[in-house]
Amino acid sequence: MVAVLAGGTGGAKLARGLLDEVGDGLRVIANTADDAEIYGVHVSPDPDLVSYWLADEIDERGYGLRGDSWEVMRALERGGREAWFRLGDRDLAMCLLRTERLRAGDRLTDAHSLVTSALGVSAGVLPMADEPVRTQVKSSGHWRAFQEFMIREPDSAPVEGIELRGIESARPTPEVIEALSGAEAIVIGPSNPVISIGPILAVPEMREALASSSAPVVAVSPFVGGHALKGPTERFFAHAGLPVSAAGIARTYAGVIDGLVTDEQGAATDGRARETPVLVADTLMDDADSRRRVAQVTLAFAASLAE
Ligand code: GDP
Repeated sequence: MVAVLAGGTGGAKLARGLLDEVGDGLRVIANTADDAEIYGVHVSPDPDLVSYWLADEIDERGYGLRGDSWEVMRALERGGREAWFRLGDRDLAMCLLRTERLRAGDRLTDAHSLVTSALGVSAGVLPMADEPVRTQVKSSGHWRAFQEFMIREPDSAPVEGIELRGIESARPTPEVIEALSGAEAIVIGPSNPVISIGPILAVPEMREALASSSAPVVAVSPFVGGHALKGPTERFFAHAGLPVSAAGIARTYAGVIDGLVTDEQGAATDGRARETPVLVADTLMDDADSRRRVAQVTLAFAASLAE
């Protein structure tokens, strides 16, 4: 069994590569701090995006279902409802499956498993916790829920504050604990370390669960050629006062990881990342072969650290 911690795109792409290597033994522990209630349904952006990648159904935008239609959004707009958060019809159906179960009193983990089975995904996609955690971001002097910050704030707006509401009441689920304790390798995917992986590591008792597993923990850097490929990772690093480099990643994950995979030449000898064993490798995952290759080198590196 291999456990991978993931937010959205970066972690999901690596999870897809790992699926080729480990099949049903893959357990993705997904960030749920971006979850939101919109149009009366429970939206789980990161667990859904990971599930769509594992099902080979991710769309060209990189967050919905391929070939989806947009009748519900059109009808909402005709009804005068501003539809700033775009959910395709099938995407919305996945949210309805989950929401119905949640309203019946089920845990988020069980409710999300309906989405993975609907898509024919047999690997596990596990919410980091069943309790609600909601990331709030301060920008331009306003606190906003994460989705609203992403969609409504201009890309240039600096991050002024981050809060993880509800985090103190969250705990890793039994499924997450089992995935970590039974894993041969634990991989931290190349997702945003501050806003996607940060909330997973901030769940009380999560770091202890990682530390008590006998598996090596290896992170893959989200920086490719010295930059984030897309999204707000660099803005969140600026807010955290971290350099956009392997050394910055090593610092964020200090005390958690046993090794770091990065494409940064020289990272292995950079004094600032010295305490962490580094594997320098090409980490760009722009097709199925490269996703599988990054998965393979990461697992081989983890196995070498376990020896
Ligand atoms: P989001 O919620 O969709 O923004 O996704 P994430 O939390 O996964 O963060 C996006 C991060 O994924 C960015 O920092 C990207 O640089 C990183 N990323 C995306 N594609 C790749 C890739 O092919 N290789 C690596 N190493 N990182 C990637």
